[in-house]
Amino acid sequence: MLYKLFMNEKDIIIENISTICRRIENTCHRIGRNPKEVKLLLATKTVSAEKIKIALETGTTLIGENKVQEIKEKYECLKDTPHTKHFIGHLQTNKVKELLKFGVSCIQSLDRLDLAEKLQQRLESDDKSIEAFIQVNTSYEESKFGLDPSEVLAFSKQVSQLNRIKIKGLMTIGLFSADTEKVRKCFRLLKEIQQKIIAENIPNIEVNELSMGMSGDLETAVEEGTTIIRVGTAIFGQRIYPDSYYWNEQK
Ligand SMILES: *Cc1c(COP(=O)(O)O)cnc(C)c1O
Repeated sequence: MLYKLFMNEKDIIIENISTICRRIENTCHRIGRNPKEVKLLLATKTVSAEKIKIALETGTTLIGENKVQEIKEKYECLKDTPHTKHFIGHLQTNKVKELLKFGVSCIQSLDRLDLAEKLQQRLESDDKSIEAFIQVNTSYEESKFGLDPSEVLAFSKQVSQLNRIKIKGLMTIGLFSADTEKVRKCFRLLKEIQQKIIAENIPNIEVNELSMGMSGDLETAVEEGTTIIRVGTAIFGQRIYPDSYYWNEQK
């Protein structure tokens, strides 16, 4: 938008956050949900610690990072600004030890047993525990990480044995499509999986949180029961790298 040329970076971030919050609130009101049930997570990959600080001053306190290296680089600058940090990227097993040093409270991208076992092992030796969401590939795209929907229940039972990992929810990246109904299908599937897991009453497994919906599809996600919307670009602007770069920790 042209008028943004005359605004400074800080005002743009603040305005963008308020626009997203308004969209969440409007959708909640339309369908009779309490807006307090839906949290906004700032997806801060590539965003400088200074900009993140500006965003945190608006009262939004939840951020999500995709790379261990970036968390490490921003740690000093952010450590005195109150916030909650989730990990939302693909996590390589050999980065677990490093990740646990930087105050991440939840790993939203738990998607395989060897990763869960490595986490359990590290957490035991650090005498810590951590919250995690199970990431599900609801769009069945090869390019996306996450468990196949058919594997999630069995995986939950396996992870329930790992007492240092506290499962609190499910996460998915919906299909990138302008077809709202196709996107909705992904979110409905995540909700169905949530209901199945709840019905099984597995010890040490809670799945109250559903992390689904981004800037393009947040209204649909709110309608389908999301509790965490993850937004980056619509708040901080375009990134110079393609998303595939950030969904692959190997790089
Ligand atoms: C980057 C990212 C987002 C936010 O995407 P935008 O298009 O920047 O809003 C959400 N979820 C995950 C897992 C991401 O990596």
